[in-house]
Amino acid sequence: MTLALGCIADDYTGASDLANTLTRAGLRTVQTIGVPSDDLALPEVDAVVVSLKSRSIEAGLAVTRSRAAEKWLRSRGASHVLFKICSTFDSTDAGNIGPVMDALRDDCSEAIVLVTPAFPETGRTVYQGNLFVGAVPLNESPLKDHPLNPMHDSNLARVLARQSSTNVGLVDLATVTRGAEAVRARLSDLAAKGIGAAIIDAVFDRDLETIGLVAGSHRLSVGASGIGLGLARALVSSGKVTSNASGADAGAPVGGPAACLAGSCSQATLQQMANAERAMPVLHLDPTRIFTDNEAQRALAWARQRLSDGPLLIASSATPEAVAAVQSRYGRDAAGHAIEQTMADIAEGLVQSGVHRLVVAGGETSGAVVDRLKIPGFLVGAEIAAGVPVLRAVGAKEGAMLLALKSGNFGGPEFFTDALGLMR
Ligand code: ADP
Repeated sequence: MTLALGCIADDYTGASDLANTLTRAGLRTVQTIGVPSDDLALPEVDAVVVSLKSRSIEAGLAVTRSRAAEKWLRSRGASHVLFKICSTFDSTDAGNIGPVMDALRDDCSEAIVLVTPAFPETGRTVYQGNLFVGAVPLNESPLKDHPLNPMHDSNLARVLARQSSTNVGLVDLATVTRGAEAVRARLSDLAAKGIGAAIIDAVFDRDLETIGLVAGSHRLSVGASGIGLGLARALVSSGKVTSNASGADAGAPVGGPAACLAGSCSQATLQQMANAERAMPVLHLDPTRIFTDNEAQRALAWARQRLSDGPLLIASSATPEAVAAVQSRYGRDAAGHAIEQTMADIAEGLVQSGVHRLVVAGGETSGAVVDRLKIPGFLVGAEIAAGVPVLRAVGAKEGAMLLALKSGNFGGPEFFTDALGLMR
């Protein structure tokens, strides 16, 4: 297998977002959890997104992990690697965007790297090197108060220069608008001056397409899902990849019992659970019993009696008042962690009982479940709802398995039945 595109994402949900974007643009895409082992058997794919958790760790560690991911991707034939960062450029003066970019640039001996977090469909645009979040510059957006990476400067050339060993230039919108040749000429000028990275403006999708065309002939780029979209479109329009109608093969039926787990307490999930009550049996866990009894065993006994009759739902989700009561009694983090681990216990038991179709609501809850099931990666399939695709496990010891992992507010009111409808 020769990858048309390799990607390294600095967090799991950003990786899923990118993998979903690439799939919608026609690339068969696998998202791996961490750097895959050498013996991981992958299906025929065009792109692999290696998910790391490197956004807010110590910069040296982020560099080491990103380098290992790059080495794996290059060994699978990826001539271009996209380092996927947050579309709000989450970072500090210590990194990790600059140090990782510098290391990957050294490794592939690239003269100049294209950098843009623009993703117009989600309101992230870059103009004169300044990042806008919706209508306001980054430093006036809620990101100014981010607990880990407060962003106080919207000028990305300055932000990146503070964390990189290279000087950072700008390719402005006027140049991008003139097309790929104009961008290439500008990059050559910057590279000739020894400038190793360039922020590129992008305000519309067509700008991303121009950037994708140029980036594809380089070895490395840095950006969010928007530049991924540009790269994917360039690969399809140039015929290097034959567009695969949005991952239909990923959703091939696996059969057997199906189950849903809900750990998200978002308004959307509570509504989706209420609607699911009409379609399937629902067990509401008692969060206080999680600390005193074996609530997972009770839930599994309940589930095993019903699995052969059709799908079911097990939920810890509760109203804000009930959540606050549990948190004040056990502490917020301890309560969250204990409930996530109980959901992971239940997921493990369900899979041992033959469940190979699993829907999980809740970002942290999904992470705990995937880690426990030790699933090395996913082939991304059709979208159930915006941003939530069907996932086919790759290299799972349980064999063929379909999952849907939804973070809190995603999905329509009938999300659980919508998901099961696409997971046969
Ligand atoms: P979301 O995607 O909506 O943020 P997450 O799964 O990421 O959902 O986060 C929900 C958090 O709430 C998890 O840590 C989960 O364990 C915790 N939680 C779930 N149910 C309850 C409950 N009844 N009381 C307190 N915490 C809960």
